[in-house]
Amino acid sequence: MKVVEFQEGESFDIELEEDLLKKNREIAEANEKLLKEHGVQAIDVMGSIGSGKTTLIERIAARLAGSVSVGVVAGDLTTTIDGERIERHGARVVEVNTGKECHLDANLVGKALRSLPLDELDVLFVENVGNLICPAEFPLGARKRVVVISVTEGPHMVVKHPFIFAEAAVVVINKTELSEAMGVDPEQLASDVARANPNARVIKASLKDDRGTDQVLEALGLVYA
Ligand code: MG
Ligand code: ZN
Repeated sequence: MKVVEFQEGESFDIELEEDLLKKNREIAEANEKLLKEHGVQAIDVMGSIGSGKTTLIERIAARLAGSVSVGVVAGDLTTTIDGERIERHGARVVEVNTGKECHLDANLVGKALRSLPLDELDVLFVENVGNLICPAEFPLGARKRVVVISVTEGPHMVVKHPFIFAEAAVVVINKTELSEAMGVDPEQLASDVARANPNARVIKASLKDDRGTDQVLEALGLVYA
């Protein structure tokens, strides 16, 4: 089959512009420094729309409530639905509406950080906009990345998005209760992740039924007595 391949410099995609990415990296470093100064451990949560990012954060916030102070920056184009869901579990939430932008950038996250009581927080989750492509290009200042995928996204979703997995510390394969109905083998997805990133910890989960949450907490080092 003929394949037309993208060559460096051929795209008009402004998101790939070097200056912009460089600026973003600088602001991400400033965010990282600010978080470190306040003793906040920040974790990026990425994944497609509907994969279970918000549900994962809800489950974690519920587990940590009372012992660990959780903050969340929730990215979304226009709504506050996810932020409201997470807030019910006692987390301090800032919703970031990106409008037409399909990803969070370090500047937006920096703005959100300035409206959070960082001194009071132990852990901060940054839920990106539901998208598996450009968030990979925009570091935000968190030290760890979690990618949430689900069997409902089909059998090829990992091999088609290799870059988002390359730097993930943890990959959650969600909705495994639907594997059979979807005809998607979670073991295959897990081995695809292992090929994209041998260091990623892969956790099969059914977050709807709260299965997998404890393994994610353990993998992130968020186990508190
Ligand atoms: Mg969400
Ligand atoms: Zn984007």
